Formats: sequence, structure tokens, C-alpha cells
Amino acid sequence: MICIPITEIRARDFLAAIHEAAEVADAIELRLDYLNATDLASVLTAIPVVSQPLIFTFRPREQGGQRDLTLIDRQQFWRNLEPELIGYADMELDLVESLLDRPPPIPWDKVICSYHDFQSTPDNLTGVLERLMRTPARVVKIATLARSVTDCVPVFEVIDRAGARPVIALAMGLAGVATRVLAPSRGALLTFGALRQGAESACGQPTVGELRDLYRVESLTRASEIYGVIGYPIGHSLSPAIHNSALAAEGRDAVYLPFEVENLDAFMRDMAHPRTRRIDWRLRGLSVTIPHKLDVIAYLDEVEPLARRIGAVNTVAIEGERLLGYNTDVMGAMSPLDDVFDVRGARVAVLGAGGAARAVLYGLAERSAEVTVYARDLKKAGVLAEEFEARSSALESFAGDTDVVINCTPIGMKGHREGQSPVRREALNGVKLVYDLVYNPEETELLKEAREMGCLTLGGMAMLTAQADAQRRIWQENQKAKR
Ligand code: NAP
Repeated sequence: MICIPITEIRARDFLAAIHEAAEVADAIELRLDYLNATDLASVLTAIPVVSQPLIFTFRPREQGGQRDLTLIDRQQFWRNLEPELIGYADMELDLVESLLDRPPPIPWDKVICSYHDFQSTPDNLTGVLERLMRTPARVVKIATLARSVTDCVPVFEVIDRAGARPVIALAMGLAGVATRVLAPSRGALLTFGALRQGAESACGQPTVGELRDLYRVESLTRASEIYGVIGYPIGHSLSPAIHNSALAAEGRDAVYLPFEVENLDAFMRDMAHPRTRRIDWRLRGLSVTIPHKLDVIAYLDEVEPLARRIGAVNTVAIEGERLLGYNTDVMGAMSPLDDVFDVRGARVAVLGAGGAARAVLYGLAERSAEVTVYARDLKKAGVLAEEFEARSSALESFAGDTDVVINCTPIGMKGHREGQSPVRREALNGVKLVYDLVYNPEETELLKEAREMGCLTLGGMAMLTAQADAQRRIWQENQKAKR
């Protein structure tokens, strides 16, 4: 089930949002603590009849709610409600425990007994679960903040340990997204999806559209294959959009998740490696992005020669108990270029001397291009150029006189000197092709100026999709080989 929380603060908007949510939700949570006393009174007299179960919630501020409420206020609130209106009443554990020795204001078979921690995911989560399970509430709920991606592990354990007791368990924050997407497939009663961006009731909550269309949560089961991208930060990665839409188009029983991984060691041990991981899941492959492309190699059982030669892995396939490393950046960078220009023997200026430049240099060397590396750090440019038998020069000295320019710096990227170009416009005079690996924005300042100067242009989106396609081919081939 996907449950949409209603988080409007005015009665009219709140009621309108219930109607809107009823078009798409399986359940609707009324966050009544978002309303002031007057709006709350208006809403309670006008709650529409909808076919979905309504979950009533009246959360005090110290447990993530919007109202300052004493325990007495909360007990009073529930006593004043008509139980018939209520599908479920979400009552916090301390409130439930305060009501155990008297008749409950709401029948226990309508109560969700909940525990929230907005600071962290405590180590003793199963202890918390046991306390919740000792109450007579029909459903138990645990929501904690994931400070790191491995905090997903105890949350998945909670779902497993709840057994036949209906359970809702999730980790908040970007690091916890995996729990929000996978919880229903692992036996949880529901997951929360915001009606739209900006209407989230907790951080890291995807929208209902993302849960349904991007992650296809309703079709996932424990048998679904799991893929994902590891990186830090990961919030702006386009990989989930690219891979999930491809997996859906291919009709695969699989999902691709963003994993915000700061501590690579803990992720590889507790979540990834089949020999040590603490989650029973069908994790089949990982994309690897900044800053883990080099460090991930230490955790792999085998690295293909190309990735070893480049010194970076951007793709991990999990085959049985083994982790295999690949690099699709060379192929991703070169195949869109090969489609539009034959670089054999051409003069090529590579701007930047980082990881992407390295992959590009490898591809250009294979094609016998005549390469000069331009970078702000002359020493780095020199080391890289020497390895690939190219020339090197300072980025500021770039004056054109080349057939192809390939930008491998982030200059012009959204949030990083956006609107600027790594080279002077006049230096593009006579250049045949300008290739910018930056994909956001799709037309960078460099590409705009190149177009105006009459050069052929190629943006970074083509590389992004080409390397992602190559990743899925690797994962599929590994699965076939295994079968
Ligand atoms: P990286 O390893 O951090 O290398 C970045 C390079 O750019 C380094 O040489 C760095 O110089 C230089 N640089 C950074 N800021 C600069 C500035 N303000 N002025 C001059 N030089 C600067 O990053 P990467 O992995 O190679 O990625 C580079 C860019 O390529 C990314 O920003 C991304 O947009 C793009 N990319 C695109 C794709 C795709 O699929 N389209 C794939 C990979 C990368 P220092 O070493 O001196 O810091």
C-alpha cells in the first residue's frame, strides 16, 4: 500500500488534498497536528467519505509533529474523536503505554503504535520493536533517521522480526530511501509517498509518483532483483531515472536505488558483499560514482583488465558470492563520439586531468588521436599525458588550433561555475567538434558558444546513457552466465 500523508495547514487546502489523494492513494494519513485549533475543528466536521482507510495522526512536536502537546492534550484529543471516522489511529508508544490500564479511547484493533527517532537509528531497534509488540495495538510502526545507508539494515530486520504482526518500518533521510521503496516488498503494511514535492511529512519521503512510476513499488517482491548507485552525495544523480525507466521498458522484475554511501567499508560489508552482508536481498549490481570509483577496487574479487588499467571501477556485478568490477566510462565516453566524428589521427584537446579525462584519454589512445591535455594543475596534466603518450599544457594557455575539444572539467555544470566556459570563445574558431561531458545543463555555455562559432557539438547526456546501457548489458550477461 502507498499511503499519502496530508500536510496542508489550512482546513480548505487540507480537505482538498484528501480528495486529490483519494485519486491515487491506497491509504491516506491525516496529519492533524499540522492544523491549528480552528482549522482542526473545521476539518474534523467535514472529513469526506473516501474508499481508502484514513489514518489519523496527532503528533507532538518532540516526536516529529507540528504541535506543542502534553500527554493530557493527546489523551483528550483521542477521547473526543468518533472512532467510526477512523480507519487507523497512529498513537505514539508513550501515549499507548499511558492508556494500558484503562479503556482505550480508540479500539486497539484500529491503533498503530508508533515510535519515532528523528536524530538517529538506535542500535537496539529490536528492543524498541519488542516494546511495541507488547502493546495491544494492531499495527506497530518504527521510523528512525538514517544517518548512514547501513541504518537501513536494522529497519529491514524489524520488518522480518515483526513476523505476522502488521508492521510499518522505514528509515528517514536520503540514506534511508531503500527502506521506503523496498519495505512493502519485504512484508511491511505500507510505505509513505508525498502527494507532490514539497508536501512530504518527513525527509527522504519520495512522492507517490516516484514510488509508483519510477520505482514501481507495487510490482516489487522479495524475488525482485536490486541494483543501485553508490556515491556521496547522491541526491542529484540521474542514474535512478535512467536505469529504472530502462528496466521498466525491458519488463524486468528489478529496481534501481540511490544509495547514499559515505562509509564505503560499512556498505560493502553490511549491505553488498554476499559473504558478509546482513540483508537477505537479491542485490545484483552497482553503479559506482564519486568518490568511490578507486576505493571500491579493494572490495572486489575480480577486476576486468580495462578497469584495472584505468584504475577505476564504475560498475560492480554481483555473481554468486563474488563481486566483479568493470569500467563503462571509456565505452560511454567514446561511443557517442565515434557516432559523430572519426578521431583517428585528429588533433584533440582534452580539458581537465581527473577521472573522466583519464577514461577519455584511454579511448583516444586506442584510436591513435593526437592529444594535448590542458589542466589548471600542470603537474597532473603532465603525469596523465605521459601515461598516454600525449602532450600537456596549462588550461589558461588553450588557444584553439585543434580539431576536437573535449571538456572533462566540471566548469559550466549546474552549481559549479554555471554559465561559464573553460575556454575563450575565440579559441573555438576553426574547431570542428566540441564535446562537453557535463550533462546538466544539457547545453552548457561552452556548447552554446561552440554552436555559435559553427562547431559541431555533443553534450554529456549521450555519455551518461551510453555508459548506463553498457552497465545493464554487463549485469544481464552476468546473470545469463550464472544461469
Ligand atoms: P574529477 O576527477 O574531479 O576531475 C575534474 C577535473 O576538472 C580535474 O582535472 C580538476 O582539476 C578540474 N577542475 C575542476 N574544477 C575546475 C576549475 N574550476 N577550473 C579548472 N579545472 C577544474 O571529476 P571527473 O570524474 O573527471 O568529472 C569531470 C566532469 O565530467 C564532471 O563534473 C561531470 O560533469 C563530467 N562527467 C560526465 C559524465 C557523463 O556521463 N556525461 C561522466 C563522468 C564525468 P584539479 O585536479 O586541479 O582539481
